Amino acid sequence: MSSELPRVTVFSLGGTIASTSAGDEALGVVPQLDARDLVSAVPKLRDIATFETVGFRQTSSGDLTLIDLAELAREIDRRFDDGVVGVIVTQGTDTIEEVSFALELLVAGSQPVVVTGAMRDATKPGGDGPANLVAAACVAVSPQSSGLGTVVVLNDQIHAARFVRKTNTSSPSTFESPTAGPIGWIVENRVRIALRTSSLKGLLEPSLDFVPDVALFEFALGDDARLLRYVDTAQYAGIVIEGLGGGHVPSRAVPELTRLASMMPVVLASRTGSGDVLASTYGFEGSEIDLLSRGLISAGFLDGRKARIFLSYLLASGNDVDAVRTAFADINDALTGA
Ligand code: GLU
Repeated sequence: MSSELPRVTVFSLGGTIASTSAGDEALGVVPQLDARDLVSAVPKLRDIATFETVGFRQTSSGDLTLIDLAELAREIDRRFDDGVVGVIVTQGTDTIEEVSFALELLVAGSQPVVVTGAMRDATKPGGDGPANLVAAACVAVSPQSSGLGTVVVLNDQIHAARFVRKTNTSSPSTFESPTAGPIGWIVENRVRIALRTSSLKGLLEPSLDFVPDVALFEFALGDDARLLRYVDTAQYAGIVIEGLGGGHVPSRAVPELTRLASMMPVVLASRTGSGDVLASTYGFEGSEIDLLSRGLISAGFLDGRKARIFLSYLLASGNDVDAVRTAFADINDALTGA
């Protein structure tokens, strides 16, 4: 019976879903369980698929690197080439929004990649790891998931990697997609897809050897951005700024941004975390029209965190400022199939 079930590979990276107490509760939980432990603890999974398990990393998710993710993407494609129908990645929820988007960009195969985790660890009443794992498995094997790219599944919702954000420190419903909403849900182990996203594949060819550092800076009321004076001396190769509202900065920050934009790619996102950066509405000093005319590159629909991932891998592939500008335009066109 089980040999007729689809094959799924589970890669574990650590995080709360893998965390348990080492004995002394006061010391907190730490990641200790690997993919094999997680799968074997949930017998229900055996009705859905046969699982191959890979303990890929064992860490809190902020310690993952962009090189780790490029390696993971390569491993995922190897499994797809070997015939698995879908992949599940378990990890800390703190950086799911970045990891899932990196995999969306880097994995070549069109089979589903489902990233999941837990908000309550295994020592807590109502630990959500097992339920999230079952839901992720349902999505990984569903024919409906074909062509969706990388998705995030928690709390019985399905989110596109390009939109998802962690919005609450502790709630199991922390994941939201403010720009477009979740693309689907899971009910009674059935996968329901309400929205289909277009493919973002083929926009990158990342180098595995080295990914240059890209800074991320959020603007605030009245800030003159003097911290940005150190971006080039600190060896960053590019920067994403999260401007106010539609993509604005205080006028006193404009000279520093103009200087940086003459040296490296400076990508303009919005600190609102939802919606497109404006392009043609406001004309004041520090407005989106002003900043774009000074050479800043619009992130479009990408929030700052996702724009940083994209810019990092673009620079890893040796793209210059003009190629980066074109790539950001391309990913925004790809979103709508333009
Ligand atoms: N809050 C995190 C989690 O949900 C733990 C830290 C991490 O992201 O690894 O897994």
